Amino acid sequence: MNRDPISRAHVLVTGVSGFIASHIVEQLLESGHRVRGTVRDTEKTRAAGHVMGLAGAAEGLELVQADLLSPDSFDDAVLGCEYLIHTASPYVVDVEDPQRDLVDPAVNGTMALLGAATRAGGVKRVVLTSSVAAITDQADGHVNTEEDWNTRSSLTRNPYYYSKLLAERAAWEFMDNHQTSFDLVVINPFLVIGPSLVPGVNASARSLVALTNGGMPGILALDWPLVDVRDVARAHILAMKKGEASGRYIVAAESRTVRQVVELLRSHGWSERYRLPSLGLDSGIGVGLTRLAANFQSAGTRSYLKTHLGGEMRFNNSKVRKELGLVFRDVDQTILDTMEDLDRWGYLGRKR
Ligand code: NDP
Repeated sequence: MNRDPISRAHVLVTGVSGFIASHIVEQLLESGHRVRGTVRDTEKTRAAGHVMGLAGAAEGLELVQADLLSPDSFDDAVLGCEYLIHTASPYVVDVEDPQRDLVDPAVNGTMALLGAATRAGGVKRVVLTSSVAAITDQADGHVNTEEDWNTRSSLTRNPYYYSKLLAERAAWEFMDNHQTSFDLVVINPFLVIGPSLVPGVNASARSLVALTNGGMPGILALDWPLVDVRDVARAHILAMKKGEASGRYIVAAESRTVRQVVELLRSHGWSERYRLPSLGLDSGIGVGLTRLAANFQSAGTRSYLKTHLGGEMRFNNSKVRKELGLVFRDVDQTILDTMEDLDRWGYLGRKR
């Protein structure tokens, strides 16, 4: 076990029932950190049971309750912690009321945490899980870097993206306007996949599930910038530990089109197990047809499809590789690992 000078520090991780946060907790425990994790409801969260089952959790992890919508939720949770990793935020594409269900918890939760950290004193660094959503919401071929900001999302256009943009902007504004004992480092992942430590199909894994359950009627013209959840967790921990870390970090390994993913799965025998899409909707008339069909989807899905179909999503990940030394896993292996894991949990479509 690698115990470095900050290994004994208390780290607060918010939303540990989540896909990404549970991996962060696993890696923190593995390297000997004492972790406090927040969950919305300590009694009801089935995932919390899985997180408490991680190696080292009995000695190294305590769970406390915190809701993003309660302004003083984090006041007790941050006490004694030197590092805060704020992942909790609703990741849902289709909601009833985007302001109430996405923007309020994303922004108010971030403000509540930063306020609590400022009042508590003693916090050295806050690592915020933002998203590519704060960088762009359109597959337009532009090579995105940490300098880019999403200027197009709104309550009606990609509202999940909007919530992430507003939360990250609010965090940087908070830092500009307050004297704090801590600095802020932001992680901006793209589409995160990989094996899950907790039950439930995450919004990002849903894209892969759709390839096996008929959710994707054909091969859509979508370009997915992918990254392994274990690398995203590692990026958070490097951002926490490396004194020189600063600003934002795009965390994405490589893009794969839906066609490339389907071909990869076919070449590994998945078409013998599941009915993968075969109808090519990823060129010319297919893109036109799917754009039209998008009009009949729910608002969040429609918005996503209209801004991504037929486009190329490009990015530069050199900052995280150079400054944090992050080495990305092979994306094709991650896709295969994710499928095996979804199969193991029983979340894929009906078998052949
Ligand atoms: P999950 O849905 O698995 O995790 C979200 C977490 O946020 C859960 O623990 C959830 O708790 C918690 N949460 C949501 N609303 C509230 C609330 N009102 N009060 C308290 N907790 C709340 O998603 P991910 O792990 O994928 O996402 C984690 C973070 O990473 C999010 O900030 C997301 O925006 C960001 N992200 C994710 C990407 C991806 O591809 N997965 C890509 C880029 C960024 P509960 O279990 O109780 O619902």
